[in-house]
Amino acid sequence: MQSLINISNRLPVVVTDTITASAGGLVSAMDGLRADYDFQWVGWAGAPVEDPERRTEITRELQERFGYTPLFLSEQDVEDFYTGFSNSSLWPLMHYLPSYARYDRRWFDAYKSVNRAFAQSVVERAQHGDMVWVHDYHLMLLPALLRAQRPDLKIGFFLHTPFPSYEIFRCHPNRIELLEGLLGADLIGFHTSDYLRHFRSTVQRILGLASEINTIATETHLVSVGVYPISIPADKFETEMQSQAYHDHLREYRRIYQGKKVVLGVERLDYTKGVPRRLDAIERFLIESGRRDVVFIFISVPSRESVDAYQKLRRDIERKVSKINGELATIENAPIHFIHQSVTFSQLCALYSLADVAMVTPLIDGMNLVAKEYLVCQKDHNGVLILSEFAGAAQELPQATVVNPYNIEQMANALNDALNMPPAERNRRMAPMRRRILRYNARLWAHSFIQDLSSVTEDMRSPNKVLSLSADALKRSMAEGRWGLFLDYDGTLTELRNNPEEAGPDPALEALFILLEKSGLDVYLISGRTRDDMSRWFGNHGFHLIAEHGFYYKHRNAREWIQFEAHVDLEWKNRVADMLFHYADMTPGSFVEEKNASVVWHYRGADVEFGAWKAHQLVIELQELLSNLPVEIHHGSKIVEISSILINNGVILQHLKTLNRYDSVLCAGDDETDESMFRVAGERDISIKVGPGDTAAKYRVTSPAALRDLLSQCLR
Ligand code: UDP
Repeated sequence: MQSLINISNRLPVVVTDTITASAGGLVSAMDGLRADYDFQWVGWAGAPVEDPERRTEITRELQERFGYTPLFLSEQDVEDFYTGFSNSSLWPLMHYLPSYARYDRRWFDAYKSVNRAFAQSVVERAQHGDMVWVHDYHLMLLPALLRAQRPDLKIGFFLHTPFPSYEIFRCHPNRIELLEGLLGADLIGFHTSDYLRHFRSTVQRILGLASEINTIATETHLVSVGVYPISIPADKFETEMQSQAYHDHLREYRRIYQGKKVVLGVERLDYTKGVPRRLDAIERFLIESGRRDVVFIFISVPSRESVDAYQKLRRDIERKVSKINGELATIENAPIHFIHQSVTFSQLCALYSLADVAMVTPLIDGMNLVAKEYLVCQKDHNGVLILSEFAGAAQELPQATVVNPYNIEQMANALNDALNMPPAERNRRMAPMRRRILRYNARLWAHSFIQDLSSVTEDMRSPNKVLSLSADALKRSMAEGRWGLFLDYDGTLTELRNNPEEAGPDPALEALFILLEKSGLDVYLISGRTRDDMSRWFGNHGFHLIAEHGFYYKHRNAREWIQFEAHVDLEWKNRVADMLFHYADMTPGSFVEEKNASVVWHYRGADVEFGAWKAHQLVIELQELLSNLPVEIHHGSKIVEISSILINNGVILQHLKTLNRYDSVLCAGDDETDESMFRVAGERDISIKVGPGDTAAKYRVTSPAALRDLLSQCLR
């Protein structure tokens, strides 16, 4: 049986002197997987246990009773990793509330070290090829840590919070580390397509990675991304509603609230849940409607009480509640019952069944399970769900009364409408929502994620293996015959930079240059760059140089550059340059580079989507403008280059190969302009594409660093 290791910040247990299992959505969701997999769960024990003997006892008991593996965190770790980084820094930002976000560098150190401890624990117990499923924002670095040590594992990550817009996520000081951590996964799941869209746009903009609707291409693998809205274990609620305890509670509550309408709110006391604004709407409704027969029950579960913002929120809410009750209570009724504690499961089910209206109005919420739980417990289809449009659940439940939680007037009106809604209308809305929740339950959610994770293919995990080339094989091939090496520079030998001026050779490349020179091979450095750039950077090396994609050539022993084609028509250049300058004006971050034989529009510095869209437009306009002229339009890696058709890398390669009687050539390049070389390469030549994308090359390596490595190993 295949193994599945589930990893969440906390194990679903309460450890005191004894150990008890705690319920929770994730436990029930995982129940469905236990039958199909050898199931393990790794997480923090949740209790401050310092004594090593007690830790051993707890570990043994958790293993034996549940198959769980606990991690123990020190008090300092809990403060810095959990209360600090996770709940005071990441949580507010993921929920669009940067004004609540705090930051301390030490917190990130703790976050890294706890994520490493999780990685260590998983690595110790994972067998070859196991699946691991990492949950939530506490463990965003874990996927990459696992992949680095154990590339054989299939790694899934599910984010239980929203993923905010790029404009918000970019505020975080550790945004790059966090994104790179997540991208260690093979599959990343979100509750809604909006969160997925934000994530893709964030990695495109911050890391400059290419992304399709359901994949992101990293240097090492393709990451799948998908939408999996979490749900609830509906069957557990249905079973509970048959219990004696449930019926007793319901009878009791009906007696207490006889003659009154009940409006229910259930949530952790958290600033994302929108309680103060809901209270404002309730106050407005009570004043405007004059109704005194409605009672509002707030089950407010204590949460994160060590975080300052939560303490302040509690004080604010309690103040508002007493004001409303003070002003609007009658002898018979105090409108607001604010209960700052949790209730038992049977009490909760009874309250859900009792409530005429559930008000679920978070300012933002990844999903919100309370909304779904209320629906399941409304067996008679009698209640009304008022639901914030900013809860993930709203996307699945369009029949709810959907409100904007920032609009107090709208919420007050929705309350009024809900309390006056005719039974037939309540039934018409409730029935389809309830059907959906009963069908698409927590188990199905877990199954659909794991099914997608297990079907991640080897090709996606290492797409470059398809055409891999080992240094040994390359060395063997190059031992025979006379070879010429044609190496493109930007994006091939060295990483692309935003500002092309910066891209002179760095120490990593200089080391390769030394090996190339020692080898005595004929090496041609090819570039779209100007002669000046090339002379300045490579003039002291023993390489032949080819500038402007073949327009100019300089033999390694010559002092002067020569022009390959003496009579090239360049009349078109000015007209093209004018158009490109217009595009640069209209596309912030882009610019024009004029060379002798070509003109280039660079848009690497522009917004990814806007830049790509403008480039597409430009190419169409250029095709019309230049249709009868001897020019080529190359839409390369974040550039559009227009050059003479008589000159390209392929033409030059063929010319020099014949002239110098090479038996074979090795050519390497990263973009469209290099494809001309790959297309002319013959049977005995070696053509290497650097990075992702369609190509005519025979082989592929993932990155400039990988090419440098390959060549260095082969030459050593
Ligand atoms: N809940 C609870 N004890 C209570 C009241 C509610 O455990 O006294 C549960 C509730 O049943 C729901 C969960 O808390 O499953 C809240 O989940 P939700 O997705 O609504 O919000 P979150 O707390 O995850 O932000």
